[in-house]
Amino acid sequence: MISLETKVKELNKVGLSTYSKLKRLGIETVYDLIFYYPFRYEDFSKITPIKNLEIDSLATVVGQIELISSRRSFRKRKVLIEAMVTDDTGSIKVIWFNQPWIAKSLKPGDKVSLSGKVSGDLINVYLNSPEYEKVGKSPTHTARIVPIYPLTHGLSQKQLRFLIKSVISLANHVADYLPAPIVKKQSLLSLNRAVKNIHFPENKNDIDGARKRLAFDELFVIQLWSKILRKQLNERKSYRIVFFENETKEFVANLPFTLTDDQRKAAWEIIIDMKNGLPMNRLVEGDVGSGKTIVAAIAAYNIALNKKQSAFLSPTEILARQHFETFNSLLGSLLNIGLLTGSQRIINGENVSKSEFLEKCKKGEIDIIIGTHALIQKSVEFDQLALVVVDEQHRFGVSQREEIKQKSHKIAHFLSLTATPIPRSLALTVYGDLDLSIVRQMPLGRKKIITKVVPPEKRIAAYDFINRQIKAGRQVFVVCPLIDPSDKLGAKSVTEEFAKLDKQVFPDLAIGLLHGKMKPMEKEKAMSDFVRGQTKMLVSTSVIEVGVDVKNASVIMIEGAERFGLAQLHQFRGRVGRNNYQSYCFLFSDSNDLKTMERLNVMSECSDGFELAKRDLKYRGAGQIYGYEQSGLASLKIATLDDFVLAKSASSAAEDFIDNYKLEDFPKLGEKLESMSFSSHLE
Ligand code: ADP
Ligand code: MG
Repeated sequence: MISLETKVKELNKVGLSTYSKLKRLGIETVYDLIFYYPFRYEDFSKITPIKNLEIDSLATVVGQIELISSRRSFRKRKVLIEAMVTDDTGSIKVIWFNQPWIAKSLKPGDKVSLSGKVSGDLINVYLNSPEYEKVGKSPTHTARIVPIYPLTHGLSQKQLRFLIKSVISLANHVADYLPAPIVKKQSLLSLNRAVKNIHFPENKNDIDGARKRLAFDELFVIQLWSKILRKQLNERKSYRIVFFENETKEFVANLPFTLTDDQRKAAWEIIIDMKNGLPMNRLVEGDVGSGKTIVAAIAAYNIALNKKQSAFLSPTEILARQHFETFNSLLGSLLNIGLLTGSQRIINGENVSKSEFLEKCKKGEIDIIIGTHALIQKSVEFDQLALVVVDEQHRFGVSQREEIKQKSHKIAHFLSLTATPIPRSLALTVYGDLDLSIVRQMPLGRKKIITKVVPPEKRIAAYDFINRQIKAGRQVFVVCPLIDPSDKLGAKSVTEEFAKLDKQVFPDLAIGLLHGKMKPMEKEKAMSDFVRGQTKMLVSTSVIEVGVDVKNASVIMIEGAERFGLAQLHQFRGRVGRNNYQSYCFLFSDSNDLKTMERLNVMSECSDGFELAKRDLKYRGAGQIYGYEQSGLASLKIATLDDFVLAKSASSAAEDFIDNYKLEDFPKLGEKLESMSFSSHLE
């Protein structure tokens, strides 16, 4: 007996190879299969008489097979199946490439329905590789609105559709986790009906109704989760942080630059949050280079003035070091600032032993502790940890963020910084009650980075240009993609590129190399040589993607640019243009695929990270988008960026639920909440 829990590998027609492909799509059980949604539909529901077929249209034909034969195509490589199909109004040729089994499954005399593209010219019209099935039982692949699924290599629409169809009746056994009053109030379809209709709709109405129900569920569950957590959080106490207004003003006045209005506003929001003693849970979101660090520094300064400690968690040693230096130069004369990474322990510019560091940290003698994952270790203890800042939050898993927060005796105020461009409306949709500060303005005087996609024949010219920039005193980043999948840290590709640039292209230049396989000290040295201008060019993997700040760099060239998403390219690009020099971003690609080129060219027109993320969404799903993995957005399978109205009703429904019901009375909903993995930010 097949049930919802049955593993798909036990289904008829699922062999090992199909199983591994399904697994790649996250499908392990019948339940997963039923909840694997199509991303679009092909409307083949209208049957066209053969004589009315129009070239270049998509159409469905129902007729009888007169002839069918297979042969090798003229280049002998492909098997070509040709058939003649007739209905009451005429006949048409049908062609399939490389699907030899069709000749075995269809015979003259069979009544078939075919859906696909009408190709050819006035003389020779044919149906080009249509979906086909015998007429009789209810159609799955033709003569209806046909679902189109996201696939993986080696799995066909037909296979997946067949599998889903074979288990779809089990949708009746799916228990509805949404409380009945909500279903009723929002006039939603039942869950069983919705999942059936999302796969095999009879008409457009079915699709709309199913989408609405399933998208509502996603938004409702996420929002309910975040509201519940928020409520729990508010029941606990954090430190009450007094705002030291004069000191803060003086600090800001002494900065080498003027804060942007957005920075001021973000800092103010944080100060207000921390003042009332409820745990702050705020995301500071700002494009690369918008100056988020200083916002966090203002918060940390106030914490220190309150005689409490802050921890600042960075994703890489390089960044931790850089932040340490920034904090030192800003606050070093006023506070005790420490750096703790796998290889370094520094307090106020002096190297100390690990035990000394830990001791001082525990006694509260270090005000601001900056570090990498090393900060999370058990041995690191604090006296009064009142603020945790996580930089580039998408680089940390939920549990890591959680562990560092646990080091506080109360509940620490929590601030995360991100350049992941999640539009405000969407962030609110997804995170519900998370507080958000957006630093959108760029500091004054920044120039737009000139971005060009460089075709192979212009490469030499680009090198010449780079040479001139270096002669003028600037520096250059080179980013290489991971070419070889076994080469996870990019050591190989980047080393090859380095050798080429160092020996052949720029033999006179001092060039540095940076990749994930190097030891921390080596990385540190490569980075500091570059920062100090001793190397003029730094060839690196994507390790430089986050945060690194080298003001003198004016060019970044990115090899194999097509391998990166737009949002990630934007992150790379943010490594330059951090000063008033005109800066440049060159995207190299050997691809001659039009779509790819079109996508890369978006980079030259658009310099807004938010806009780029939106465009990226057009080319890739939310789960694919750089930085979204940890954001919870990846768990949206069907709700989209535009579902504002639905998000609103989901939000008020969640509110309603919290006010009027107890979660314990709805165990199915409770299970659903627990099973969600988006719990990333708020917990
Ligand atoms: P990100 O938001 O990407 O983390 P950073 O905090 O590293 O950006 O800031 C980028 C650079 O801009 C740093 O060198 C910083 O000193 C500088 N900066 C920050 N705020 C301003 C400002 N208001 N005016 C000018 N420069 C600023
Ligand atoms: Mg940063």
